[in-house]
Amino acid sequence: MTTVKTRFAPSPTGMLHIGGARTALFNYLYARHTGGEYLVRIEDTDAERNTPEAVDAIRQGLTWLGLMPDSDWVFQSKRLDAHKAAVEKLLAAGHAYKCFCTTEELDALRAEAESKGQAFKYPHIWRDRTDHPAGKPFVVRIKLPLDGTTSWDDAVQGRIDYPNTELDDFIIARSDGTPVYNLAVVVDDIDMGVTHVLRGDDHINNTPKQIAIYKALGAAIPTFGHVPLIHGPDGKKLSKRHGSVSTLAYRDMGYLPEALLNYLMRLGWSHGDQEIMSIDEAVAAFDMTHINKGPANFDFAKLDWLNAHYMKAAAPERLVELMTPFLKAPLTPAKRDLVIKGMPGLVQRAKRLTELAEAAHIYLDEPPFAFTEQAATALADGGKERIKEHVIPALNRLNDWSHDALDGAIKQVVTDGGFKFPQIGMPLRAALTGTTQAPAVTELLEVLGKDESLRRLSSL
Ligand code: GLU
Repeated sequence: MTTVKTRFAPSPTGMLHIGGARTALFNYLYARHTGGEYLVRIEDTDAERNTPEAVDAIRQGLTWLGLMPDSDWVFQSKRLDAHKAAVEKLLAAGHAYKCFCTTEELDALRAEAESKGQAFKYPHIWRDRTDHPAGKPFVVRIKLPLDGTTSWDDAVQGRIDYPNTELDDFIIARSDGTPVYNLAVVVDDIDMGVTHVLRGDDHINNTPKQIAIYKALGAAIPTFGHVPLIHGPDGKKLSKRHGSVSTLAYRDMGYLPEALLNYLMRLGWSHGDQEIMSIDEAVAAFDMTHINKGPANFDFAKLDWLNAHYMKAAAPERLVELMTPFLKAPLTPAKRDLVIKGMPGLVQRAKRLTELAEAAHIYLDEPPFAFTEQAATALADGGKERIKEHVIPALNRLNDWSHDALDGAIKQVVTDGGFKFPQIGMPLRAALTGTTQAPAVTELLEVLGKDESLRRLSSL
């Protein structure tokens, strides 16, 4: 039995696209599910469009999501000799031929076909000729069957049939000897032992050409699975217009990697109606038959919902590390402890790390506070005085700083002074944090502890 080998083969032309990250994930899941291997190949043969920054962005994106392969990356540009050798092999076997047509000749034929309203197809001029001119430039074309059908059972799309008459004897090596993309992909997939090619459905039209190359090289044809592209909420192809399409941008917007992974795995693949699924569960459950044939629509609200879920599940120590880049200033050890203590409350109020960092400022800002408008209002009209005269003395007397004791003490202040609860609760919250958008007062007091609470209240 052959071991499954999948691969993610991005072209490093910019960022790691969110659709690319999903393709990587599906390849990862299928390989892990079958006990196979998952590989990454950087398709960097287009020197004009490829940049080292783009390679780095792919590396960072895959690392962040935990989708790095076990083995080293393959760089397609390093495999030029293998690609050229395959072209030679095809020529020697008579599966490919040299075509000496000049650009002018082909342009004229193309113009003629167009004037008749026909689609241009290379008319096999050099397919069977042997009178090769010496020293003239040539391209190498593959010799395709003249009739019949190229078919494959696509693991996602089902059976796909291509009449061979629609295919051309396409070029596999340019006049400077460099092999074309379709040739390089096939040679690399053969040499890497790839058994399953799971990729975007924008490659469907390349597949019959690639199958022709596999056949001509006498190699086993892998299983192909073409995954529909991701669309925006409006049903149009996902683009910047909808939001970010760069994987790392989601990290920088404050999403957790496991939330984005969960979101991406469900985007176009389903396991019953289970929405929350860990990567391990997905590895156990993944199959290609449940990848949707139609495009999936990106739903930002659902991603937020998943992120909120995973933030609540994450350890406070980890959340503090992850949110640190979003804070206005670095954390001191004492502040760090305070935020960790307050995390269960903070995390209830945030969908992303950015919001969490914002919420954490109630513990980070130092008195005297720049009060928000609502906080200033809460402290006006006797609010400040109520804190000074009633709350501070009551809290000073309190030795048991437990939730229940604090709750009892505050209620006592309310009852003894004949107040309504908000007359104490609102100014107290404002005095402790500078804002009224904060957790319940007992929670605040508990997290801050007696000394810090009284220090803040005394600064009024
Ligand atoms: N390099 C191609 C791309 O980025 C993918 C090729 C493939 O998966 O076969 O779209």
